[in-house]
Amino acid sequence: MINEKVAKLLNTQINKEFYSAYLYLSFANYFEDRGLDGFANWYNIQAQEERDHAMLFLQYMQNNDLSVTFDAIDKPSVALDSDMGVLKAGLEHERYVTALINTIYKAAAEDNDYRTVQFLDWFVKEQGEEETNATDLIKKMEVFGSDAKGLYMLNQELGGRTYSAPSLTL
Ligand code: MG
Repeated sequence: MINEKVAKLLNTQINKEFYSAYLYLSFANYFEDRGLDGFANWYNIQAQEERDHAMLFLQYMQNNDLSVTFDAIDKPSVALDSDMGVLKAGLEHERYVTALINTIYKAAAEDNDYRTVQFLDWFVKEQGEEETNATDLIKKMEVFGSDAKGLYMLNQELGGRTYSAPSLTL
């Protein structure tokens, strides 16, 4: 049995992951407007991954016969005012999501709900990767993004990112 508190947090996480997808689509749109199609590609793929995360939480709840509520998805709250500002907001958002995952993990562990703990293990690792990716992007931008040629090269590199489905299956 998954307790009510954990179930509520899992349900909220569905919404948070869809919000993440929505946020990253707004980032992709910003870069599309800037003519930086590689950056846009990177965030479009990021958005796809977030949708996958949402679907995994949804599927996990369904598999465990928990009732799911679909809430409104918030308007993206990040001001899109500079390239670096957007990148940094991405890292900040991933740190926030890590905290959310940790909160669910703690609630599940406190209830000896090892099934949910095991499900969340993948997300704990995934958040580590998300934070690393966001940090790497900021570092590259710091080093190469200050002149047009470097920015062009970085845009080319990010344009090469391809989507792959999550390694977690339920
Ligand atoms: Mg996510």
